[in-house]
Amino acid sequence: MIKDLNYYNKKIKEIWPDESHIGKELIFYIKEKLDLNDLSLFVDNHKFSKEEENSINDFFEKKKNGIPLDYILQKSSFYQNDFFVDERVLIPRPETEILVDYINNLNLSPGMKILDAGVGSGCIGASLAKLNPETLIYGVDYSLAALQVAKINKQKFNLSNFYLINSIWLNSLKENMFDIIVSNPPYVAPFDPHLEELKHEPISALVAEQNGLRDFDLISSQAIKVLKKDGLLAFEHGNSQANEVRNIMINYGFKNIVLINDYQSQPRITLGKK
Ligand code: GLN
Repeated sequence: MIKDLNYYNKKIKEIWPDESHIGKELIFYIKEKLDLNDLSLFVDNHKFSKEEENSINDFFEKKKNGIPLDYILQKSSFYQNDFFVDERVLIPRPETEILVDYINNLNLSPGMKILDAGVGSGCIGASLAKLNPETLIYGVDYSLAALQVAKINKQKFNLSNFYLINSIWLNSLKENMFDIIVSNPPYVAPFDPHLEELKHEPISALVAEQNGLRDFDLISSQAIKVLKKDGLLAFEHGNSQANEVRNIMINYGFKNIVLINDYQSQPRITLGKK
């Protein structure tokens, strides 16, 4: 039996008759991992060596266990950079790029201090640090495992202006310290059925009590102190949480509340000023 791409495509159709994206993921995997290009795959009809076969079998095993491709490749593309990721952190989502883009397009002046609260892989903080080398970007996380991943990305992008701190939300930070605080906190409600699809991602980065709202409350209550006067707080939230997040922020004294939609026209980001 000749083991070329057709062979594996047939196998995918047998195992996952209704999931066409797995075929695309396999091609992506092969190009990344086995360093083959379109020409060899589609024109020269490359026959896989024993070693390559083993690697492809590994892909199949992992997909059967429902592992997302980004974890298999330990790599995730976010805001034009490839971040290292593994199961210690959430896989960066495209919606979060809107948050980064918004902050990146503000007039960030040299010396500005920005905090990424719940830094995870570092995708928000490291992207901002890389594009704005004159600013000082801090990332806090209470998960030491997540901070290890953020550190890998800090080193990967050689960021001397990206500081990582172990802290429960803003507990370890001084008052009137930051110009901007950004956060994509856990916001999925406990027992949300959607969690089944996310079972390989760290639950602590996804789920929050009070129907997913608890951390918006905690962070807002601390951010109003930790921000400088007129400082900006920017949250990513679930598409049904905009009103609640707005009310929480107003409740702690934030003003000039702005709501931004994501690519699916869903309300996704809320900002307010101290
Ligand atoms: N956007 C993620 C999801 O629903 C959740 C991220 C989060 O809780 N911060 O897949």
